[in-house]
Amino acid sequence: MKVFKFGGASVKDAAGVRNLTAILQTYKTEKLIVVVSAMGKTTNALERLTDAFYFQTANLASILEEIKKFHFSIARDLFAESKHPFFDELHNTFVELDWAIDGTPQHSYDQEYDQIVSLGEVLATKIISAYLNEQGINTKWWDVRDFICTDNTFREGKVDWTLTEDKIRTFLLPFFDYASEQVILLQGFLGVTSENFTTTLGREGSDYTAAIMAYCTDAESVTIWKDVPGVLNADPKWFDETKLIDHLSYQDAIELAYYGATVIHPKTIKPLQNKNIPLYVRSFLNPAEKGTLISNQQSALPVPCFIFKVKQILISISPKDFSFIVEENMSAIFRLFASHGVRINTMQNSAISFSLCIDDNERKIPDLVKALQEDYRVLYNDALELITIRYYDQATIDRVCIGKKILLEVKSRYTVQLVVKDL
Ligand code: ASP
Ligand code: MG
Repeated sequence: MKVFKFGGASVKDAAGVRNLTAILQTYKTEKLIVVVSAMGKTTNALERLTDAFYFQTANLASILEEIKKFHFSIARDLFAESKHPFFDELHNTFVELDWAIDGTPQHSYDQEYDQIVSLGEVLATKIISAYLNEQGINTKWWDVRDFICTDNTFREGKVDWTLTEDKIRTFLLPFFDYASEQVILLQGFLGVTSENFTTTLGREGSDYTAAIMAYCTDAESVTIWKDVPGVLNADPKWFDETKLIDHLSYQDAIELAYYGATVIHPKTIKPLQNKNIPLYVRSFLNPAEKGTLISNQQSALPVPCFIFKVKQILISISPKDFSFIVEENMSAIFRLFASHGVRINTMQNSAISFSLCIDDNERKIPDLVKALQEDYRVLYNDALELITIRYYDQATIDRVCIGKKILLEVKSRYTVQLVVKDL
């Protein structure tokens, strides 16, 4: 059995759904678990809907209307017949969304967010499942919340692996043995708490869902279908000349994802590595191409890999009492970063100062800085870029630093990180 994941860009319109269907047609003899994300930019729209609901703003109805229109227009394109029974089902799913935004908010922002935003994946899978069945691909729509159990950390649900694996082994695995369905279609990104509230696994979390399903079913492989040919050595958004990497070790993949390569969600690799399940990253536009294979085979990458992160801040911290930055200060500083939910992208320390590069986040940074200022002098520099080069050499460093001033440079054997400012 194989696990496939299709992201929002692959199903952003009716043509995308047809393309997904054509890809699945070529796997007719296989049992598949297919994980799908919300269509196109639906998650962003649902985030705006959450804001409008939570803060009770006047644009609530118009955002809802926009989301309805988008999905109904895709459905109308796919199901030409306007009396098609699927339209009732689609309508009912929107009733669920109406309920989620009915009245006034009763829970925390994050909890309300998950109840609302999760409907994007539900809508996408309902449409796709109905279409696949109509096209002769025997598909079972299944609610992934029957399987993936998490704690109560809304918007960043932590998976309860024991419970999740148990449910998948008890209910999902046997299904393939007796059912005539070839495909089980599931929503990416979602989980459920023990009190039956929906959680989400963090933005772009559907890759992780695919990895969870593969881990718990001992799948043969996972394939993430993308709008790029595979893993490239740089993001085409920033670089004209990019190279496709045919093969990547789990370790390199996790390093690249951790530093911010957006091609795979960073949490995806660990479950796959733990069970030695190969991960393919392939193009849904050119499904005949091989793409990239990520596996346990070690091999140094043939080319340097670049990862750019924009909107970075460099914070420099020094103790007000001029004491050294030693273990005690460091652990107090780390605790503050952790309690504010701020991840450190790179750092460097000297005797009395400690510099940390983090993502700019208007919600979290001002509070963090205020907390730090109690014991430390805090300086910061914003609008920076963090460039990570794995398998670097001096020539590539020089090339990417043209027109930039380097504020911080951290080098290890394989990786260099540069925090830079435009000159
Ligand atoms: N739809 C969710 C998001 O856009 C999850 C995903 O796409 O992986 O963040
Ligand atoms: Mg998405």
